[in-house]
Amino acid sequence: MRAIRRFTVRASLPEPLAGLRALATNLRWTWHPPTRDLFASMDDELFRRVRDPLRMLTAVSPARLTELAGDEDFLARVHAMSDDLERYLTEDRWYQQRPQGERAPAAIAYFSMEFGVHEALPNYSGGLGVLAGDHLKAASDLGVPLIGVGPLYRSGYFRQSLSLDGWQVEHYPVIEPSALPLELLTGEDSEPVLVHVAMPGGRDLYAQVWQAQVGRVPLLLLDTDVEANDEDLRRVTDRLYGGDADHRIRQEILAGIGGMRAVRRYCELTGHPQPEVFHTNEGHAGFLGLERAREVIDEHGLAFDEALSAVRAGTVFTTHTPVPAGIDRFPVDLVQHYFGDGRLLPGLELQRILALGAEDNPGMFNMAHMGLRLAQRSNGVSQLHGRVSRRMFARLWPGFDDAEVPISSVTNGVHGPTWVARELTALLGGKHKAWGHDGKLPSQMGVSDEELWALRRDLRQKLVLEVRRRVRNAWLQRGASALELGWVNQVFDPDVLTVGFARRVPTYKRLTLMLRDPERLRALLLDEERPMQIVVAGKSHPADEGGKALIQQVVRFVDDPAVRRRMVFLPDYDMSMARYLYRGCDVWLNNPTRPLEACGTSGMKSALNGGLNLSIKDGWWDECYDGSNGWAIPTADGVTDPLRRDELESAALYDLLGQQVAPLFYERDDAGVPRGWMSMVWHTLDELGPRVQASRMVREYVETAYHPAAVTSAAASADGYAGARSLAEYRRRVDAVWRQVRVLDTELTVEAQERLVVGDEVRVRAKVDLAGLAPSEVEVQTVVGRVGDTDELAEPMTVRMEPSQEGEYTATLRLPRAGSLGYTVRILPRHDLLATPAELGKVVLA
Ligand SMILES: *Cc1c(COP(=O)(O)O)cnc(C)c1O
Repeated sequence: MRAIRRFTVRASLPEPLAGLRALATNLRWTWHPPTRDLFASMDDELFRRVRDPLRMLTAVSPARLTELAGDEDFLARVHAMSDDLERYLTEDRWYQQRPQGERAPAAIAYFSMEFGVHEALPNYSGGLGVLAGDHLKAASDLGVPLIGVGPLYRSGYFRQSLSLDGWQVEHYPVIEPSALPLELLTGEDSEPVLVHVAMPGGRDLYAQVWQAQVGRVPLLLLDTDVEANDEDLRRVTDRLYGGDADHRIRQEILAGIGGMRAVRRYCELTGHPQPEVFHTNEGHAGFLGLERAREVIDEHGLAFDEALSAVRAGTVFTTHTPVPAGIDRFPVDLVQHYFGDGRLLPGLELQRILALGAEDNPGMFNMAHMGLRLAQRSNGVSQLHGRVSRRMFARLWPGFDDAEVPISSVTNGVHGPTWVARELTALLGGKHKAWGHDGKLPSQMGVSDEELWALRRDLRQKLVLEVRRRVRNAWLQRGASALELGWVNQVFDPDVLTVGFARRVPTYKRLTLMLRDPERLRALLLDEERPMQIVVAGKSHPADEGGKALIQQVVRFVDDPAVRRRMVFLPDYDMSMARYLYRGCDVWLNNPTRPLEACGTSGMKSALNGGLNLSIKDGWWDECYDGSNGWAIPTADGVTDPLRRDELESAALYDLLGQQVAPLFYERDDAGVPRGWMSMVWHTLDELGPRVQASRMVREYVETAYHPAAVTSAAASADGYAGARSLAEYRRRVDAVWRQVRVLDTELTVEAQERLVVGDEVRVRAKVDLAGLAPSEVEVQTVVGRVGDTDELAEPMTVRMEPSQEGEYTATLRLPRAGSLGYTVRILPRHDLLATPAELGKVVLA
């Protein structure tokens, strides 16, 4: 019989155990082992099965609960743990201890389409969601007052299994929110709060708001499966990244506009300060900027352009993909369908909305372009990705060199306490509580090679057991009988060099690069003296047949009895599997087509556990590889034939594995320790440990984005939005006269005309026509740089020129370098509320 409806009955806890409820619902337990230990001690065996404190409370027998309620020792531990959580939630942390007088925002809203906090809350698909989860956790640890916002999916992302012939099969298990660590947001009347957004045809889309508590950070998740909705609208939040464009735009309207309304309601009801800064993790929730424009237009009577100036000041946009196909776009017709009747955002004109998403193709609305136009501060997620993004979006800032396009970069990081094996934290952290956070390096903590090597073996052994368990289950699912699976006990060996490769399967990640020459791969796996074993995992997007074919290719290779002990494909890559891989693998392999990997974070998680990266210099590895913390696979940049490129790069990969990685791993001294290997492991922990942490990333966002955005935003909104009005008025004037602004004449004078030497001073003078703009309203600059065959200025140095007399500007500058130099003069807009002079995409060159 099938149930027609599900519901969940919560355990009733004996009064003395009441403190367990908060410990189980606050997701801090996911990165706080002592809390997990407390729940495990209620029933060890049971906890190993359920792995989730909240489910534990419903699973433990009432008799056991009664027993525990009388156990003084246990009660004392519950108290101590509750006190510890309370302290964590209320004490001053890094954010509160920052220098006084800085105008730190009272709250920041962080929007994302997915959040991967833990597998207990399966509301993510991959890297983007896990990053968002790590962002919340690190913010919590640092005391940064973030509020997370996004949709709650009834069947998060799909679960993956394999058919007998190795084809990916998807399942969509349905979650029951009331069984998850979530509480419904309720209003003054104790009824669930419903936010709504208008839909075409006079309908409304309603959502209830579930609240998860991620340490100090509330996470608000919108759920449309409510009775108030028409049947089709109930399904808006059914699946993550499923469905067509219409389905997606509804999800994004809900996430952005509905998300804003949920945040507002949440703050009103709880007294939480309203956010001053709004961060969109990728463009999907970008409509939030339009909702904020609607708010200020409605409440303060601003014109659209004025509202836009105010909104931009407080918005931060992070772009995550350099793959054009990865950019979120909608047909203009579709946007018109939802926004056209004016009910969704009253007071906003359709044409103005459409202009924000305009791109080269007039039929498409580009969410990344809207993100950039609605945010005064935007960034990519590694230094290389920042450069690639500046080039990719340069056309939004015509007249500027790529380097000046105002898109910065904040390199992603990962949440150490979530990803580092507790055994390793105990070994290193036992000697120093917060290794990597306080500048103290692991190698200075007096732990020996022998100790760390033994621990690495222990982690590899745990991975081996997990691999066997999963291989067995996968085969049972594919239809094998237990009797045929004896060989599974010989899969993997705890003393063999272990390489991991786990990721989503879009083409650019090149899942099958290692299969390019199957004979060479087989030889590496089966080498008599220096064998290696490889664990591969990854999901393909359900609609991506090409990706599924790649998975099938891997599965067919590993199904061969000759290699199946040394190489496996594990279905259903998710956080619970990822943990074992990051901890147990000696080498983490990544071979994307450069530069299409924006950052990549799995290698960081491996590095934090003492794994060595073997990777194409793409994403984070491009800036973090230093020659002795792992290996860089040489790239055939510039080779345009993709097959040829794969051939060259795969050959380089085999060479590295066979000639450098394996020999170093197997070179042992009398004590059986690979000293050379261990020195690379220590170096990795020392150098990368602090750099790859999400705490570093969040601090950077606070310092370079949230804090400046709060300052500009306050300046824009003070005195009835006087700043925003003045900036809008300024932009209007600039737009009107900019075509008449000109550099009339320039002159460079030197003292010693004959022989210029580096460091000599020269004087640049320029006559300009400002077409009625005041001298204080422009910035006049001279730019000096190297010139080669063309007059293009390379490595330019910019010096601001000062007005000397009517229409004339001068600057003195020291010649920065020898060789052929050139200079020019340019005029840029200037206003106190601009974050950079390039912001408006306007420049006049001499
Ligand atoms: C870290 C992580 C990712 C992202 O890894 P990439 O290196 O960016 O591909 C994806 N899925 C899970 C489960 C992760 O933990």
